[in-house]
Amino acid sequence: MVEPFDLVIFGGTGDLAVRKLLPALYHRFIDGQIPDSSRIVGIAREGLDDDSYREQVRETLGKTSGADKAKIEAFLKQVRYRSLDARKDEGWDEFAALIGEQPEHIRVFYLSTSPELFVDICGRLGHYKLNEGKSRVVLEKPIGRDLDSANQINDAVGRVFDESQTFRIDHYLGKETVQNLLALRFGNALFEPLWNNAHIDHVQITVSETLGTGNRSSYYDRAGALRDMVQNHILQLLCMVAMEPPSSLAPDAVRDEKLKVLNSLKHIDSSNVAQLTVRGQYRAGVADGAKVPGYLDELGDTKSHTETFVAVKAEIANWRWAGVPFYLRTGKRLPDRVSEIVVAFKPVPHSIFSADAGTLAQNRLVLRLQPDEGVKLWLTIKHPGPGGLRLRHVPLDMSFAEAFGVSQPDAYERLLLDVVRGNPTLFMRRDEVEAAWRWAGPILAAWSASGEAPRPYSAGSWGPSAAIALIERDGRTWSEDSE
Ligand code: NAP
Repeated sequence: MVEPFDLVIFGGTGDLAVRKLLPALYHRFIDGQIPDSSRIVGIAREGLDDDSYREQVRETLGKTSGADKAKIEAFLKQVRYRSLDARKDEGWDEFAALIGEQPEHIRVFYLSTSPELFVDICGRLGHYKLNEGKSRVVLEKPIGRDLDSANQINDAVGRVFDESQTFRIDHYLGKETVQNLLALRFGNALFEPLWNNAHIDHVQITVSETLGTGNRSSYYDRAGALRDMVQNHILQLLCMVAMEPPSSLAPDAVRDEKLKVLNSLKHIDSSNVAQLTVRGQYRAGVADGAKVPGYLDELGDTKSHTETFVAVKAEIANWRWAGVPFYLRTGKRLPDRVSEIVVAFKPVPHSIFSADAGTLAQNRLVLRLQPDEGVKLWLTIKHPGPGGLRLRHVPLDMSFAEAFGVSQPDAYERLLLDVVRGNPTLFMRRDEVEAAWRWAGPILAAWSASGEAPRPYSAGSWGPSAAIALIERDGRTWSEDSE
């Protein structure tokens, strides 16, 4: 159970609120973690009242796992709605009065709207003094589209909320597997001595989606894969793999170490962007067994150079990681929906086995974030039974759901309660966002200066062939878990 709170979702009728935030709160409610006097207030311009909003939420929750009519009704008693326009004063007096009814409550303002509204919303929250007391603000990505725009948003939010009140969410950090990475690395004596360039050959991070951009094409076209996925989620995962052991799990101890990694990323600019990155854009093809159109057709603009796929060979210039490439790739309309980190260890220095024993494969630690969160450690063993010694490569499977017989909580469940508890360990500090933009900005600038279009790839393929060449040039291949 956490302290009683009021959680206000700006954008309470939007996709993120309906699909993720409200179900996450419902699941915490049925686990008894939400005190009775807590309130969840949805905000949007649409002219709903409490009852009609509850009707919408009821319908959504009816489809979620763990749906139970009586429990949904009990949860809905804590749900309210206020129609407000972030850009107009009308209605804010009443809203401030509603929040003022329970001054002892923790207040969480979750900005689940387009970032263009963050400045208006924070300005008004400050004007009505709703930033005082135990208040916190949660910012959804994207925080800007480059360093300047990120600074503008952070400055405007910072005029109203202290850094200690500001929670920049990256839901990948709330995933069980990512936290398990901390447990594996720092809770076992086994891995940390090997966790360096003497023993690790390379790291791969893949976030692939089967979906295209669909009706979000015009939004996506202003972002692209590097801004949408790499600058935030993938770099955060890279930090969790690469950071030095923090002295504790205290928020700044962890974030200081992540920041050092971001600041150590080797610069990519016009001089090396062609060797170290590949941009792609999907064309028509077959995805999930159906014919699908290409990105430009969906967008209705044949000139767009926005990338729907990117692969990057990143390097971290420090003692631990010098010479260990981090291959990053993400894209839309790829063959599988997978998010995973693969840590590939160096091969044994000498094989004592005869050629007919089979090939020796590298040990790999595979951390899968979705689907089926879990960890596998690939090992070489002897094929059981009499006869000659044959080698087999098998996974030591630590699938969480099977091991613990529990269903995986959604990342938002943990993160929302961390905000209420005031624990920002798994949230991005302002300087991390800035460091990530300082690395991503020159890549975007170099692509733009080149004037080149992204390389085409067929929907349903693993991206342009140049992405395969990017890793094969180094004598390595993209990992497939079934290997
Ligand atoms: P969305 O579906 O477009 O919802 C936007 C919400 O904002 C709606 O409730 C809308 O309702 C409200 N809104 C728009 N203008 C407003 C105004 N002037 N005043 C008050 N409310 C206003 O967007 P979304 O997909 O939920 O995404 C929200 C944010 O989360 C975005 O920044 C997005 O990048 C980020 N995000 C989304 C996802 C996701 O899975 N959807 C994932 C990660 C991050 P009215 O039009 O009725 O006002």
